[in-house]
Amino acid sequence: MQEKLNQTEKDFKQDLTTKSGFDLKVKYLGRKNGLVTNLMKELATMNEADKKQWGPEINRLKKNVEEALEKMTTGEKQTDGSFDETLPGLELQTGTLHPITQITQELSNYFTAMGFMVLDGPEVESEFFNFEALNVPAWHPAREMQDTIWTEQPGVLLRTQTSPVQIRSMLKYGAPLYAVAPGRVFRYEATDNRHDHTFYQLEGLVVDENISVANMNAFLKLLVEKIVGDKIKMRIRPGYFPFVEPGVEVDVECAVCHGKGCGLCKGTGWVESIGAGMVHPQVLAYGKIDPKKYSGFAFGVGLNRLAQLKFGFEDTRMIHQNDLRFLKQF
Ligand SMILES: [Zn+2]
Repeated sequence: MQEKLNQTEKDFKQDLTTKSGFDLKVKYLGRKNGLVTNLMKELATMNEADKKQWGPEINRLKKNVEEALEKMTTGEKQTDGSFDETLPGLELQTGTLHPITQITQELSNYFTAMGFMVLDGPEVESEFFNFEALNVPAWHPAREMQDTIWTEQPGVLLRTQTSPVQIRSMLKYGAPLYAVAPGRVFRYEATDNRHDHTFYQLEGLVVDENISVANMNAFLKLLVEKIVGDKIKMRIRPGYFPFVEPGVEVDVECAVCHGKGCGLCKGTGWVESIGAGMVHPQVLAYGKIDPKKYSGFAFGVGLNRLAQLKFGFEDTRMIHQNDLRFLKQF
């Protein structure tokens, strides 16, 4: 034992001049196989007489090692001139908000100012809220439009749209209702620069008495102005969504190419940015709202697409790549 102690002490003194504090800590005090740790373990198995003899010695060694390492980490050993205290310190890297976060916050503030509630909903959703209550029963061909990621539990899926929050909010708050729901949605989809398996939407719902298509169109115009500014051209054309009747799609002029045609707009100069429509009476009924008394419109915005338009980048997949060279620009 004496020999072991001497050897460990000698090794430590030698290592002290060549190894880093971290390496020393692992080699001598490491929980699994540290040399001093092993001596302590050995001590625990000794009989009383041996413990009395070696206990103080081993503890002294342990204390010396700990103290030497402590000094090292507090910098007292740094006297060899390798540390230049006149050098500037490391610059702290401050992050910026992700483009999606920026857009979500900006739109949420905008809608809150107009008296809308900002709501959240589950990302793992039931088939009922994601499809059936939105007028898409199991046999409906519209289900083909959304490649769904199902869980192993029957009837449970990753929501393909933020629309289930429409039903949930109608059931919870009733009419009149002014609400938006930003959030993450999922599709079982091959990705390209316009499509990703995980993306972000913001869905809005207005239900009140005497809400008409004119209200909806005026509102969509406001929304586009808010999002991309009033200098950008927009157009409203008919579109199909099973939970609205009639349905429309709003295109805005491509911000990357300004109408000339590029990858983002598939060469058309226009980018689909908002889907909207008058809420289908059947959907109101699923939300326990009387379709004879109330009407309303719903709209959905792809936040990825918006971020692309607002910040002008072509590939939606950049949003999930965590590439600092990309993210630092915002
Ligand atoms: Zn374009």
